[in-house]
Amino acid sequence: MAHIDPVLLAAPPRIEPARALEVARTAFGIDAVSARDLGSERDRAFMLTGAEGTDVAVMKVSNTSEDTATLDMEAAAVVHAAQVDPDLPLAIPRQTVDGARRTALDIDEGTCQVRLYDVLPGRGRSDPRELSDAAIVGWGETTARIGRALRGFMHPAAVRSMLWDVQHAARTRAFLPDIRDAGQRAIVERTLDRFETVVAPVWPSLRAQVVHADLTTDNTLVDDHGRITGIVDFGDMSHSALITDIASALDSIVSDRPADDLLRLIRLYLDGYERITALDDDELRLTGDLLATRAAITIAIPAWRAAQGLEDAAFAERYSAVVARTIESLEGIGYDTVARRMLGSPAAAGIDLPAATAALIDRRAAVLGPALEPLSYETPLHLERGEGTWLIDVAGRRYLDAYNNVPSVGHGHPRVTSAIARAARRLNTNLRYLHEDAIELAERLVATMPDGLDTVLFVNSGSEANDLAWRLATTATGARGGLCTAFAYHGISEAIAPLSPESWPGGRQPDHIETWAPPDALRGADLDGAAFEAALARLAARGVAPAAVILDGALTSDGYPVPEPALVQGWASAARAAGALWVADEVQGGHGRTGAGLWSFERFGIVPDIVTLGKPMGNGHPVGAVITRRDLVRHFAEETVFFSTFGGNPVAAAASLAVLDVIADERLVDRAADTGEQLRAAIHEAAAGDKRIADVRGIGLATGVEIVRPDGSLAPDRATAGAIREALRGEGVLVGTAGAAGNVLKVRPPLVFGLDEVEIFAAAFRSVLASTSAHAGT
Ligand code: PMP
Repeated sequence: MAHIDPVLLAAPPRIEPARALEVARTAFGIDAVSARDLGSERDRAFMLTGAEGTDVAVMKVSNTSEDTATLDMEAAAVVHAAQVDPDLPLAIPRQTVDGARRTALDIDEGTCQVRLYDVLPGRGRSDPRELSDAAIVGWGETTARIGRALRGFMHPAAVRSMLWDVQHAARTRAFLPDIRDAGQRAIVERTLDRFETVVAPVWPSLRAQVVHADLTTDNTLVDDHGRITGIVDFGDMSHSALITDIASALDSIVSDRPADDLLRLIRLYLDGYERITALDDDELRLTGDLLATRAAITIAIPAWRAAQGLEDAAFAERYSAVVARTIESLEGIGYDTVARRMLGSPAAAGIDLPAATAALIDRRAAVLGPALEPLSYETPLHLERGEGTWLIDVAGRRYLDAYNNVPSVGHGHPRVTSAIARAARRLNTNLRYLHEDAIELAERLVATMPDGLDTVLFVNSGSEANDLAWRLATTATGARGGLCTAFAYHGISEAIAPLSPESWPGGRQPDHIETWAPPDALRGADLDGAAFEAALARLAARGVAPAAVILDGALTSDGYPVPEPALVQGWASAARAAGALWVADEVQGGHGRTGAGLWSFERFGIVPDIVTLGKPMGNGHPVGAVITRRDLVRHFAEETVFFSTFGGNPVAAAASLAVLDVIADERLVDRAADTGEQLRAAIHEAAAGDKRIADVRGIGLATGVEIVRPDGSLAPDRATAGAIREALRGEGVLVGTAGAAGNVLKVRPPLVFGLDEVEIFAAAFRSVLASTSAHAGT
């Protein structure tokens, strides 16, 4: 068989207690009167006791095969770790009278090395079944602290082939014949098979460093609460995957627990670990496999050593039966289930996807009920992850995302995701406590606003922002009426649903609301302010005074008409003349979407009374804000106190700050302007001569493509628009539909959509126009 570290082949050195006492005196200057054998796999360890009967030092005598370079590596590692994390309870080898960390001793079998350690508090060889949940969490934390303390450590002797290191598990296959219990032998064989097929291929990609790899109950001292008070053995260190530490610790501390409690304990342990060091997906996914592998070698190596006569079988194999049960428990649960539970996400690999997707559709309907908006697309998307402008489904198919505006800086932008993760790990409280981030965010938002918009109120969604804007407006004006565009959407609350004709219950218009039609350049309708004036007049005729006019500056739900600034200025002055406040809803148009400044109202040359933010503000993390004038907030404060538990929390603030930074760093506002122009030009070109495409309009990366009957009537064609949307989905390109007639393709990608994506989009669009018939579905 392959080379085996001779240290595992040699028996513990034979040395009499008297000799140990003599070495302690001569080499370390310690006067002890007795030496008690502590038992060890391959070394000999003595507790040295002083004249008063107190324990004064622990002596470790390595076996004669131990490589001195390895011992020096251990000593250097402990000294390094103690420097990095002085509170780690490490057993540090004492210096000899000559200043070395070991001394050589000649015995009958050869030369062995003697090291001396302080006596650490606590008791050894604790029973893992007695470890409390808190102790398990603490064990995870200590494991991670050792890993962190060794992160910057390297030593040539660390590159070694230590059999206990799970990376060499396959080599223990040679020991299978030594496992006398047939059941255990079969378990080990299955586990090694799995290691080779599942773990080994991923191994080279795992984070690696010098690891302790042996934080077991045998190598630690604990207090009465099971908290680690001493770490006494660095003998299994090597350069390996970081999670080797986790495998070896878990193998010890979750052993002999009921199968149905196993996952809970592993997760508690990992919680402790991740308090110090976050684990990545592969590391979490492989936790169960690595635990099983370590358990398998915990059976195989002692069986082999016992067979070689190196150790007493009963002692060597004392853990074999319990760790075999650990493996059986993991197998019973199923490794895929273990992996999913560690990842905390039900997303599964290797499952029967069409069936799983169908089942999920049914479960969604069953548990979320009929009020929720239906799934997008006739064949819904079952997604796993997103990257930039791409969405990837559970089968690995990639879709060009030309629809989602929330991930405006791109799906999974690392700056935002790590800001969220770091903030969440650090602190998550509320605005009743001081924290820099929300204050800085508010200051930065105010700095982007026109003079006068100087006060920020944080909430958690666009609806909440608009709801609060409505309360500010009704409080300040004492009025109760509102105006919005004909097919607007502004949110879900009791106050805001009336301002959302797109989702009016039963299409019924509330008495205190009026709508006006935005301009329809295609048909030459509503190009002046008459529609707005008429809406104000209708409201007045019902005796309702307007508190607010709300406008989505991108006019998304209306199908992306692009009003001239002068027209909007006219609306705003008419609104104010009627006593209403102007609310700029930037939930869609803000954060650079229009490519004409950070906020869509900037293009109109107006100064709103209230600005509301949401959707892209946290790139998917729920956060919203209202920015308004101090006098309006003062009115409100006279009536009530405002507080939103989550509003402005440190995690949301960190996400929002990161989004603002990325928009600036990646020059996304300018890019939205350029790419939007290119996109509309490409769509025009692809649609040249196709009479169904009546209009390609929009601003920045908000584009509407109006689909009509090709008979010159300009009659909206919802069915064809829907057919094109579905066909594009089939081609792997995602768009939506909008507008009162549902006949406008809504092309509204993340702002990181670039020229490559424009080309992909145009090619798909061309092919879909060619393949969809003029009256599909009608
Ligand atoms: N305002 C506008 C213009 C919106 O488009 C939306 C959501 N589509 C909202 C407000 C409401 O935001 P949320 O869904 O976060 O409540």
